[in-house]
Amino acid sequence: MIAAESRSLERELNPWLAAEARFDEAAARLKLDDGMQKVLRSPTRELTVYLPVQLDDGRLEVFTGFRVQHSIARGPGKGGVRYAPDVTLDEVRALAAWMTWKCAVVNIPFGGAKGGVVCDPAVLSEGELERLTRRYTAEILEFLGPESDVPAPDINTNAQIMAWIMDTYSMHKRHTETAVVTGKPLDLGGSLGRQEATGRGCLIVTLEALRKLGMDIENTTVVVQGFGNVGGTAARLMARAGMRVIAVIEIDGAVYSPHGLDIDALMKHREETGSILGFPGAENLDRDEALFLDCHVLVPAAKENVITSLNAHKIRARIICEGANGPTTAVADQILADKRIFVIPDILANAGGVTVSYFEWVQNRQGFYWNEQLVNGRLEEIMVKSFRDVVGYADRHGVDNRIAAYMLALDRVAFALKLRGIYA
Ligand code: GLU
Repeated sequence: MIAAESRSLERELNPWLAAEARFDEAAARLKLDDGMQKVLRSPTRELTVYLPVQLDDGRLEVFTGFRVQHSIARGPGKGGVRYAPDVTLDEVRALAAWMTWKCAVVNIPFGGAKGGVVCDPAVLSEGELERLTRRYTAEILEFLGPESDVPAPDINTNAQIMAWIMDTYSMHKRHTETAVVTGKPLDLGGSLGRQEATGRGCLIVTLEALRKLGMDIENTTVVVQGFGNVGGTAARLMARAGMRVIAVIEIDGAVYSPHGLDIDALMKHREETGSILGFPGAENLDRDEALFLDCHVLVPAAKENVITSLNAHKIRARIICEGANGPTTAVADQILADKRIFVIPDILANAGGVTVSYFEWVQNRQGFYWNEQLVNGRLEEIMVKSFRDVVGYADRHGVDNRIAAYMLALDRVAFALKLRGIYA
């Protein structure tokens, strides 16, 4: 690849630039004034921390962590914390902005924030992970609080890590404060339905898309990329709803069966063998081969930058439901639009997680807990309404679903900011 091409690909794959590209287009269409654009595009606060942690063998290691609050105009900063070896500040910044727009799309009273720690959790022991989490929490303590910034799980973080964050914060405050973090274990104030909320949200908006496009559930074939909490749950619930999940894609390859995969059995197989590959009755495929399968619904539910200018033209799905944050680059958007693929953008498609995080925060503050039916019913109500808001907006204004979602979100955040005014 020549230098100029590789530079333009590097720019395309930078998540912060991708977030800005969509922001710019939506802001221009809304005719937002220049000053408001400046305020909304830049984060409110960013913190980089260096975390000394004693490893099990006695050595000291220093890890880097970030917490970015993008906006607190509509409420406390809200967003997950991810642990991964390649996390960067630009990535966390983009993810924080996406949280702002996501919370505004589903109209819950939060701003946007995100955190990350550069580490490889696969090589850390439970004790090392706990010490790292507690030190990270202590270092970003001034940011945190039920009224200021509320973390949650994201890639490679889970309910146990949220419990350590809650405990560390509470020890400093000298009282138990469950609402400082969501996605906690049920016994520590977690909400029923939170674990599967993101995947369930994907199911709800996919059903809405099928209805809108006049497609029936029974004939719908699905390819899911990523078999973690989001992809795994989405696959399971979509299969249970009557769709045929014909392929699942993971880091080490994909499995495919035109008759549909038994998702529960596939989860068991992975648990027993450590991989989805070699699943009885299914064919092993190359990752890319599976991504480009002819199917009705493609659910990218792993990481950023899966659908790019290099491969978007090969996608053969009718609907893309973005379970992950930022799986499609801004350049790829145009290619998908030209192919008339119906994209349910990440800030809508995966908003089920933060929506039930909001329910968890409400329950913690009320000290009164809801049953799962109530949680799922309220989630469905919000996801269906948000889908219709976005798609209706897209139809009315002649823009694609992603730009419609951004426009709706920007308008809401700008309006809140206008009402509050600028403190001088
Ligand atoms: N990490 C999830 C997301 O990207 C959930 C965030 C939350 O619940 O605060 O939406």
